This record gives sequence, structure tokens and C-alpha cells, in this order.
Amino acid sequence: MTIQSRWTVDVPRCSLAQWIFGSACDPLPNHKSFIDPDDPDNNFLTMPHFRLLAKRVSLGLLRAGLQKGDRVLLFSGNSLLFPSVFLGILMAGGIVTGANPSFVPRELAYQLQDSGATFLFAAEQALDTAFAAAKEAGLSKDRVFVLGPASVPVKELATASSPAQGPAAGSNKPVDLAGARHWTELLRLGGSPAQAEAWRWEEPANPEETTCCLNYSSGTTGVPKGVEISHYSYVANGVGVVHTTKLHPDFAQKQQTDSGLAFLPFYHTYGQTYFIANMPHLHIPVYVMPAFDFVKMLTHIQRFRITTLAVVPPIVVLLAKHPAVKQFDLSSVETIGSGAAPLSLEVCEEVQRQFTASTSPSAREFRIRQGWGMTELTCTALSWDPTSPIPTSSGVGELSPNCAAQLVSLETGQPITTPNTPGELWVTGPTLMRRYWRKPQATADTITVDTNGTRWLRTGDIAYIEAYRAGGIVHVVDRVKELIKVKGNQVAPAELEGVLLENPEVADAAVVGVTIGGEEVPRAYVVRRAGSKVTEAEVAGWMEGKVVRYKRLKGGVVFVEGIPKNPSGKILRKQLRDRAREEVGDT
Ligand code: AMP
Repeated sequence: MTIQSRWTVDVPRCSLAQWIFGSACDPLPNHKSFIDPDDPDNNFLTMPHFRLLAKRVSLGLLRAGLQKGDRVLLFSGNSLLFPSVFLGILMAGGIVTGANPSFVPRELAYQLQDSGATFLFAAEQALDTAFAAAKEAGLSKDRVFVLGPASVPVKELATASSPAQGPAAGSNKPVDLAGARHWTELLRLGGSPAQAEAWRWEEPANPEETTCCLNYSSGTTGVPKGVEISHYSYVANGVGVVHTTKLHPDFAQKQQTDSGLAFLPFYHTYGQTYFIANMPHLHIPVYVMPAFDFVKMLTHIQRFRITTLAVVPPIVVLLAKHPAVKQFDLSSVETIGSGAAPLSLEVCEEVQRQFTASTSPSAREFRIRQGWGMTELTCTALSWDPTSPIPTSSGVGELSPNCAAQLVSLETGQPITTPNTPGELWVTGPTLMRRYWRKPQATADTITVDTNGTRWLRTGDIAYIEAYRAGGIVHVVDRVKELIKVKGNQVAPAELEGVLLENPEVADAAVVGVTIGGEEVPRAYVVRRAGSKVTEAEVAGWMEGKVVRYKRLKGGVVFVEGIPKNPSGKILRKQLRDRAREEVGDT
């Protein structure tokens, strides 16, 4: 039995750029789109400049040889330039793939090779890693563009005729490009600002079948894979979120004063869809933080009267417990949305209480809510309608517009039809990915096509639905897939197992998630090679330099005689997860 969203909403068949900007050349309001919170008066982009800069990057890329369908990897923390480069790649017919800016060379090289990226944009601070990875992946240095400051302030970049490379951060010397190119070269290659102003990007003939992003996710099993999101799906996600946002009774008034604070990373679908697409579409200014810093976040909320926050659960925990919170006036915040991992009801209620108490009686109502999403569904698939009462359960909301869901029993494989009975959550809708990039088997294992031809995503999450009807609230209660979520970041056990097996002292290994102190972390079960005396600390240390910090084995290393497997050699992860929980985990 299927439940449908309460809302059916038209999804325009256009490019993501068209949806955000409305058109290629029509005038845009002079609102600020992206603002540097550390230098808000000088360092910002207006909506017209955002579009113009994106067009100039786009024209430059086309002249630098970018072909339709080429993948371009963005390896940078959040910055004011990131959204323009992102949109510029799409306007040129390219596909964006973003990587965590803390990745080590091995991880970046994997994504470069897997995506077959032909250009790499790298933040100045990440150049060494970018060069090492480019070398490993066989990408020549002249395909690497360094994203660093230009010779003119950001707000003048779009209109400056030929800006050059500026000094390296914190110095007055230029960045040593070492054979790479500075991104401002694209502005010179692309022609004059007036030419870019008049230029119209080519709209995709078939937005459903034109991929715009490869956001990496390990899905239900295996190593990270490129999730192919079409322009249509990206727009459908935005249309759904905007539709729900506009249900707020004061939306029109709110829109005038709303502001967002982006510390969630732009390479991940959560930060990307909210801050590069949805908020600019609504002309809501976004203050961009290069990375998360809790006290800075509080400072910016107070100073800029931020109204809406998109966060992950560990940030909600900090908001509930961190002593610094009391020192700031956070009364401007009206909405906090949390996603990417489970959030406990107690923590949620604590924040609801604190923020409600700190708000003046005349202020608008404050709400904290969970949402649920997945890279394979572009982003958001379940959320709370802003007109519904303040949630009193840990439900993650109801289906986004145009989406449908069903629950399937893990035991029988049959659809579940009774409320409050858990099963695997399957979701369908226009936001569903096209496929995994060049991985037909993984795609077939993840998407089931029913007899009506409907494609269903098997999410690997266990959920129940309060009432089997449109508007029924969904509760996500467990995960059957391998995926581990560390502070909202994906960690694929198969990737860590691969790294462990490269250690000559290790005969076999399995990694599972365990919750310690309320946070999920990876824990390894390792079989030593015969005669090996390798220690737990040495095995944990083996990961250093091979994986980014959050993937390290913070849940510990345990030596075992053998890894439990089924007759076909598949690791019995549930058994190990149960064991890990008994050994160290939170109940
Ligand atoms: P990602 O593709 O990185 O966004 O990860 C998607 C996965 O994160 C989901 O399949 C869930 O396992 C988990 N997730 C996202 N939101 C929630 C939530 N509100 N509660 C529980 N798990 C969540």
C-alpha cells in the first residue's frame, strides 16, 4: 500500500540555473545573495552579480575546452565564489561533483577517477592534496583551477573586465600555482562582462535526462558512488521545499526579512540544495561560513538576526547544552531544521523550550523540526508542514510534494499496510536519482521497478508511519544499510574495510557503526594475519593519512578469530552491530 504526498505541484522543465534566476538575461532584484559574515559591507554578491559571475565562469570554461556532460570536481570549503562556479559549470552543460575539502589525496583521487572529471577546482588551502590526487588520477595540472582571491573585491568581480589573481590568504605574495591556473583566467577567457550579460546558456532539451550533479553517496552498500541527479530532479526538490515553506501563513512578510547562515558544506546535497538553489530562488540572502564553528555561528546569528538555520543533530545538541548559547541573543531564529541523522526528541524539546523562552512575546513562533532526506532523492523527501502543530514526537515529517512512499517488510518482502508497523522505507517521486554513475548493478540493486513502471528507491532505512494516509507522519527508527553517519557525514564501511585490508598485518576486517555518547562512530573487527602481533592502536593509526578525520576508527578496534559471514561471503553486519552495541554502545 502506497501513501501519496498531500501536494501535487507543477515542476517546470528547465535547467537549475533557469529555476534559480528566472531567466538568463531579465533584470534581477538587486538583493544580496551571498555575504561574507566577517566583512559584510565589502564582501558580498548581489543576485545580478551572482548570475553574471556564473555566466562568466561558464563562458571561460567553454573556451577552456569544457564539453557538454563533462564532469568538473569542486574541492573547496564554502566560499562566496563556490555558488557561481557551481552554476557556471551547469550553464556550460557540465556536471558538478563536489568533494569534502578535508579529503586526503587517496579519497580525492578516487572521486576524480570514478567521476572521470576533466577539470578540478581546488581551494588555495587544498592545493597540495589537489595536486597529489590529480597526479594519481592522471589529470594534468593545467586542468586544475585554483579558487583563491582575485585582485578585486568579490562584489566587483562580476563586472571587473579582467581581474587577476590576488595575493595568497594571509600574505602579500601571490599563490604559487605550480603549473595550475588561477580561476580568474576563466573570466579573461570568457570575454567582457557585457558579452556575458547578453549571453544565454543553452537550456537542456530533456531536463529529466540531463544530469547536473554527481553527489557521492555509498547508498545501501559498497563504496561511495556518483549519484546522478538531473536538472529536473534538482528543480523538483527545490519546488517541493519552496512549496512547503510558502505554506507558512506569514511567508510573504517573512521573505522580506529572512536570512540564512550556511555552515553546512556546499559539496553535500543538504547544504548545496538549501543555500545554492532554494534560498537564492527565494531571494533570501545567505551568510556564508567557510567551515562550521559553533561560537562564530552564535555570533553571526546575533549580529545578522539570522531567521532560519539548517543543521545536523550534533549542532542541535550543542544548542541544547553548550554554555555559550546563553551569552547570545538568538531571538531572531524562527526555524531550525535538522536532518542527515537521527535527532532525539529530548534534545529537540530542550531546544524548543530554550528558544521559545528567549523569544519576546511579540516575536514570531519558533520551531525546531526534523526532516529526512537522501542524496539519492536529491535531498528532502520528508518534512513538517509549517502550519502543523509543534511536533511532540521524533517523527521526521510527511512526504514532500509529488512523492510517494511505501513500507516493505524485511521478513516477507511484502508491503506493510498497517500503521505503526516498521518496514523498509521505499520512496518514489520526481526527485529520485537517474542512476548511480556507471554502476548499473548498484542501480538495479537500489531501485526496484514495479509492475506499473514506477521506480522505487529502497532507502535502507527502517521506518513506520503513524497513519496510513496522505499526511501520515513518518518515523525513521533504524537503518538496515551499511552506511555509518558521523556528525551527518557519510562513512562507507566498505571503503574503510578496503583500507584495512591493504595493511599486510590484516587478514580480514569488517567495520560497523556504534553509538557512543550519543554519536555514531566506526568500529572495526579485525582478523590478524597468522603470526602478526599488530596492536589495536597500530591498526587505528593505519587509517591516518588514508582517510579524512571523521572516518577514523573512533569506535575502537577489536581483534577477532573470524568475521561472521553468510555462505556467499557477505558480512553479517547485524550480528556485528549487535555485538558492538553490547560491548560499548549506548542503549
Ligand atoms: P545522505 O545521503 O548523506 O543525506 O544520507 C542519507 C541517510 O541519512 C538516510 O538514508 C538516513 O539513514 C540518514 N538520515 C537522514 N535524515 C535522517 C533523519 N532525520 N533521521 C534519521 N536518519 C536520517
